Amino acid sequence: MEISNLTFIVTDECNFNCAYCVQKKEKKTINNACIKTAVDFFYPFLKQDVKVYIGFYGGEPLLAYEQIKHTVRLVQEKNKTGNKKITFSVTTNGSLLTDKMLDFFNRSQFAVTLSYDGFAQDMGRKKGTLDQMIRLMKQIQDYPNIDFEINSVFTPQTIKTFSESLRFMIEPGGPEITFNLSTMEEWEPSHLETLKEELKRLTDFLVLYYKKTGKIPVKNFQVPVPGPGIFRCSAGKDHMAVTPEGNVWGCFLFHDYFKTRKDNPQYQDYYFGTLTDFIANHKTRYPEILANYSDLRQNFFQVECKETNFCFLCQDVKSCMVCPVNAAYSTRSLGKISCRQCQLNKIQLKALEDFHFLATKDTKKH
Ligand code: SF4
Ligand code: SF4
Repeated sequence: MEISNLTFIVTDECNFNCAYCVQKKEKKTINNACIKTAVDFFYPFLKQDVKVYIGFYGGEPLLAYEQIKHTVRLVQEKNKTGNKKITFSVTTNGSLLTDKMLDFFNRSQFAVTLSYDGFAQDMGRKKGTLDQMIRLMKQIQDYPNIDFEINSVFTPQTIKTFSESLRFMIEPGGPEITFNLSTMEEWEPSHLETLKEELKRLTDFLVLYYKKTGKIPVKNFQVPVPGPGIFRCSAGKDHMAVTPEGNVWGCFLFHDYFKTRKDNPQYQDYYFGTLTDFIANHKTRYPEILANYSDLRQNFFQVECKETNFCFLCQDVKSCMVCPVNAAYSTRSLGKISCRQCQLNKIQLKALEDFHFLATKDTKKH
């Protein structure tokens, strides 16, 4: 077992109630004994000589700020002699961030991902938080050791704000952004048309931006065309996650997904067990469960769609990336992708292709 990404789901509680959120909120927070057991066990398995991420996730992880600090202390203590290249990361809605926390994240050289939806913020996340986010964006950028990113989600209801939202975040020279399209709602043909128009507007803006600055601030557009090869989910392979109850999964998303699906026949295929059991039995348990995670790759996925049935038959298979857990929320089965998700991906891949064509067009002439 060699891990490059270990996530502590420090709490299942959240102070927001985002319209598209699929998590089941619970008043469960990880305890210090569990953190210590996990750090002691997993630390030796963290990769040496390459960048390793130790992440904090929720719910809203800043509700468990003390547990985050505790974990960082334990890891730093071990790393005095271990000398691994560790980066801490946290994904937060930003509402609880204080100067004291930002100082701590700056000192500990955190990567901070802010969940912020631009002009859709007040529609999909929490009403009245847009102004706070605008202030916060400026504030975080004053901390030189924080590696700051934004993660935005758009739905059929908020897609009309998409291109303006991203421009608004990018133009003042903000951080890099990743966007996601929610697949929990039905995208009517009119929504898909709006998505295409909005992606076209964003593409035009990004082409000019790239020609002026040489930068592509939207991570979704940093992917090369044609794609980097067949996408493989990293869960279990070099990603592991520990939950507030002390369970072990291959990625934090599996915890969210299976929390309300304990009777799902796939549950046992992906569950590494409780931390205590896993520590005792990992030599046999890890390879046994890992074999199931290894099947989560794009060319093995099946699409529930009349037009397309299997991803391996699709001409976009080397460029397409579908998170199997996100897809399973609609299909109720890991390894299956809904027609809606496939359609959204095809539209995004077309925009990506257009962007790379237009961005390199004049350079190619010379
Ligand atoms: S575009 Fe659809 S069929 Fe093609 S690889 Fe992606 S999900 Fe599969
Ligand atoms: S593809 Fe999804 S499930 Fe797999 S590691 Fe990435 S986020 Fe986790």
